[in-house]
Amino acid sequence: MKELVDEMNIGCHVSIAKSVDLAFDRAKKIGCSTFQVFLKNPRGWAFKEISKEETERFKKKYSNYNISPVVAHISYLPNLASLDDEIYTKSMDSFRQEIERCVILGIPYFVIHSGSYKGGTFQEGFEKYVESIQKGIDFGKRKVTILVENSAGGGRTLTGSFVNINAILKEINDSKVKVCFDTCHAFSAGYDISSQLGVSNFIAEIETTIEMESIAIVHANDSKTGVGSNRDLHEHLGLGKIGKIGFSELINDSDLRKKPWILETPIDERRTDVENINYLRSLINK
Ligand SMILES: [Zn+2]
Ligand SMILES: [Zn+2]
Repeated sequence: MKELVDEMNIGCHVSIAKSVDLAFDRAKKIGCSTFQVFLKNPRGWAFKEISKEETERFKKKYSNYNISPVVAHISYLPNLASLDDEIYTKSMDSFRQEIERCVILGIPYFVIHSGSYKGGTFQEGFEKYVESIQKGIDFGKRKVTILVENSAGGGRTLTGSFVNINAILKEINDSKVKVCFDTCHAFSAGYDISSQLGVSNFIAEIETTIEMESIAIVHANDSKTGVGSNRDLHEHLGLGKIGKIGFSELINDSDLRKKPWILETPIDERRTDVENINYLRSLINK
């Protein structure tokens, strides 16, 4: 049965501080077999150059470290559904540059968060978002798969429900667009994945909407707030409202366990990343 355990591909979000290739060393040090990065400072619009040497070191480590896949996540500010021309232009410029970095570094997956249709209708935001993703496929020269992440719902986000995500996928109808399933966001958006029945209902909903094959990766985060709260507050695994039962049901699902699982849990004194990874591994049925 050891084989099944080894099959699980688990990692964390890690920093690219000082040099982008150091992400590999940080990931290796804490026992990740996959990891996620931002490709720029996530809190601003500015880009700091990534040198040729950094790129070369990154690619070398990508072939040598046996850590795969590397996933990149879009920075926080872009809104790919924005109906404000100025914000939209800035958003698309950042989106393009970030995806171009994926191409240069050989990163196969790029996670985008939900767009917001603030100032307009759902339909207008939906059309903008679809158009942005289509452009993104070209920015990535078809080498990068764009992963639409489900949101915590509420406000004017487009991806709180898997019915909406399915509509986005169907509209684009391209194998270069898949889904990043975030457990905290799904729970906050109203999918009660904290029990055995809840998880089986959730999986049934996935099968009737986007289908399991569309999920490329899982973001494993517990939630500080309750089901349907629409808040995006990540918690250490098992210490939040999804809890131990929810995560053990999810991680032992025969399809979900084959996906790369990436943690975006808090950085604080209660748990380290290593402890969260070990916690998740401890839930896997032997
Ligand atoms: Zn996430
Ligand atoms: Zn989140």
